[in-house]
Amino acid sequence: MFSFELVGMFHRLARFSLQRSVFLSVLIVVGASSFGGCRAEASPELYRQSQFLLDTLVEIIVVASNTSDAENAMSQAFAEIQRLETILSRYRSDSQIFAVNRHAGDAQGVRVDREVSDLIRRSLRYADITNGAFDMTIGAVVDLWGIGTDHQRVPESSELQRVLPFVNPQDVEVDADSRVRLRVPEVKIDLGGIGKGYCVDRAVAILRQQQHISGGLVNAGGNIRCFGTKPDGTAWRIGIQHPRDSEKLLGTLELREAAVATSGDYERYFMQGDTRYHHIFVPQTGLPARECQSVTIVTDSAERADVFSTAVFVMGPERGMKFLEEQSDVEAMIVRSDGTRVTSSGFVFQPMN
Ligand code: AMP
Ligand code: MG
Repeated sequence: MFSFELVGMFHRLARFSLQRSVFLSVLIVVGASSFGGCRAEASPELYRQSQFLLDTLVEIIVVASNTSDAENAMSQAFAEIQRLETILSRYRSDSQIFAVNRHAGDAQGVRVDREVSDLIRRSLRYADITNGAFDMTIGAVVDLWGIGTDHQRVPESSELQRVLPFVNPQDVEVDADSRVRLRVPEVKIDLGGIGKGYCVDRAVAILRQQQHISGGLVNAGGNIRCFGTKPDGTAWRIGIQHPRDSEKLLGTLELREAAVATSGDYERYFMQGDTRYHHIFVPQTGLPARECQSVTIVTDSAERADVFSTAVFVMGPERGMKFLEEQSDVEAMIVRSDGTRVTSSGFVFQPMN
């Protein structure tokens, strides 16, 4: 679960209400020095707001000198995420991704915003560089399992065999005037492995444009990006959840200008007997990836962190670490399925015990 340590130290501008249970993988730790009750007027303080968006809890924290600057900045950032959810969610019948999927197989495809076609184009490139581990055409497999819905179940292998041919990035075409075409009627785009990261990058871009905001952090269900510093000049501290004990942290990261994302098999799953069935699938088999419990990626953008955490989870520790070594500016910690950990050489982390 997600909780803030010392939560009372924030100016809480809105109470968040959890409309459903969410499983999040991070904890943001704010030290006692970041808030003082008897400060001079107009000294910067932390403000925090949360909203249930993107099917998860989105938290925004900003450093501002007064409530109206903070509120103004955060409401613009939330509005940006809402705007993006409206166009990117494949579950909303008014979204552009819904339209693309609905018109799968149509020769003319669907004209989308430049922003959407660019995101799809980048998703194709991620499929390429991850050798198919990241695959936005996983939609048919996601639907078959229904993890996290009221119809989740283990499909028959014959059902899986039937949908696997529809998981194929080569069936996605994007042309120069932003027309997206899915070549086969059964193919479905699902941006669940990249969308939150992209939204976090956009929200942070909005916060950075605000003159009176000197730092901040956006967290969409474990996809985080931060900038600037806390009011006392120290870095943001982000806790990484223990994948098998939601009360425990593996340790904390100290970040200033960075993004971090964790993909875990404890975020959305169900148990059948002793077997855990979760939401990150191997595109070639349609089965939940088995080699990791969690993958945490630290890099420059929330989009890359989101994509790489999902992709490396699919690749497993060995292939995943090799892949990451070839990428620039990426550090990682992988918890293997037996609970042991491997970290990249530059992963700076304060372990809990
Ligand atoms: P994340 O929590 O960022 O690891 O993303 C998991 C979500 O991405 C799932 O809920 C699916 O919507 C989608 N997904 C699952 N497997 C894959 C995959 N191999 N490549 C891309 N997206 C995936
Ligand atoms: Mg991800």
